[in-house]
Amino acid sequence: MLKIGLTGGIGSGKTTVTQKFSALGVPIIDADEISRELVQPGQPAFVEIVNEFGDKVLKSSGEIDRQYLRDLIFSDAKSRVKLESILHPLIRLKMSQQIELLDNPYCIIAIPLLIETGQADLVDRILVLDVPRELQVRRTMERDNSSAEAIEAVLNSQVDNQTRLSLADDVLNNSGDIEDLLQQVEALNEKYKVLVNPQGESIEADNGISNNKIKNTDVPQQKNSPNLFKAAELFIPPGDEIVYELPLNEKIRTLVRLESLFEEMEHHLKGDTYWDSRSAINTFVALMNIFSRPEIKTDMLKELDRINAIVGKYTLKDMPDDSYIKQVQEEVNVAAKNLRSIDGQLGQGLKQNEFIMSIRQRDSIPGGALEMDVPAYGHWLNKNIESRCQDIRIWLSHYSQPQQALNLILKLMRNSGVVCEASTKAGLYQHSLDTGIANQLVRVIVPKGAFYFPEISGGRQRFTVRFLKPNGFDRPVQIEQDILFKLFCCAL
Ligand code: ADP
Repeated sequence: MLKIGLTGGIGSGKTTVTQKFSALGVPIIDADEISRELVQPGQPAFVEIVNEFGDKVLKSSGEIDRQYLRDLIFSDAKSRVKLESILHPLIRLKMSQQIELLDNPYCIIAIPLLIETGQADLVDRILVLDVPRELQVRRTMERDNSSAEAIEAVLNSQVDNQTRLSLADDVLNNSGDIEDLLQQVEALNEKYKVLVNPQGESIEADNGISNNKIKNTDVPQQKNSPNLFKAAELFIPPGDEIVYELPLNEKIRTLVRLESLFEEMEHHLKGDTYWDSRSAINTFVALMNIFSRPEIKTDMLKELDRINAIVGKYTLKDMPDDSYIKQVQEEVNVAAKNLRSIDGQLGQGLKQNEFIMSIRQRDSIPGGALEMDVPAYGHWLNKNIESRCQDIRIWLSHYSQPQQALNLILKLMRNSGVVCEASTKAGLYQHSLDTGIANQLVRVIVPKGAFYFPEISGGRQRFTVRFLKPNGFDRPVQIEQDILFKLFCCAL
């Protein structure tokens, strides 16, 4: 399922466009509508909001007063962060649930604040409505019967059109009449239908990619290969187990590092203090440093091409249910196309950002840049939390396509192994790998609270797992017991 994120400022024409897509038979997921449903009495967000903001958020009818909440978060950044932290995870969850139920090659996900709230990673392509500000104000005034000042205030709280456009994969220009807009939607519908064509001919023609670029088309011959992609997905480590991973090559190691930095970033962005923003900037600089390596984009593209070729072979097999394979193929095609559509280095656009570049340049100072090194940093750190998070989300969107690609590669890698029970001899386990297949990752799972931990070492041919126990702060010692543990050998 190709997910198109539709976004645009107030009065830019999102509703008009979604109505047209819907009339063309395209399923619509509407973040605003979900948000309205979630705050109804009895819904999960209702109780949390009342607990957080008190009875004053309730109308006499017992419903949440959405206008009161809108005014509150507009004037108070802390309330906004709080409300978003209640609503956004629930909206994301609801959207994923709705997507799961769809049975269409593509869908439109309308998210007005897609960029501002950092939800670009949810979608495969970003569709932006471009409209001159004066028209936006005029049309909204007519629609809502509100004042120009009120609309300008909303516009000022949203990201500017230029930023939105810099992240767009597709653009609808709404400076003409409605008929003109609807015709553009029809044309875009045709384009999306071609994009999701399982034959992929149009996608490849579009990019000038030819199949002969794909070199390694061997299907792994590991014993568990018929389970490739699917089996491990069924095994979700429960909360009382810890997963230890060892990437068997440098490319996967880098992707795991990036994945961890993105997770760290999400954690920092939930906080609303000065220190949270400082940590977020440090994490962002670490991301920039890794993404500035020129080989990363090529490596990820090669990896996606290689996976695509392997998946292609699977579709040729007589598989009783190939819907999962088709879904994987589609996801890989979209991720590769999105990554290829980036001109030059990943995050290149950030080089124009004097502010973040001046912080990054001082990254080599032990401890990183401080306000005394970059006074503009001090000024920025004293902006309200809402604008700090919004700035970081916008910078992060420069990496949303690589993030999507790396998440997909790692998901497929991890899903390519089958869990098996393995046992040690006096704390030691050794495993030879079939060198004919692309071994990528070893995962060892042990119970939470175990007195030991695994130390995995090795390469593409063999690996060793040594189970150790802490020895105060001295070197850990190997355990003497024979233990059973769960092992994944991921080869794709
Ligand atoms: P949004 O959902 O982005 O806030 P809408 O789709 O509700 O925007 O559009 C805002 C108003 O402008 C609506 O009343 C809509 O009918 C009108 N509108 C949208 N596009 C055009 C257009 N091209 N010409 C004239 N009016 C338009």
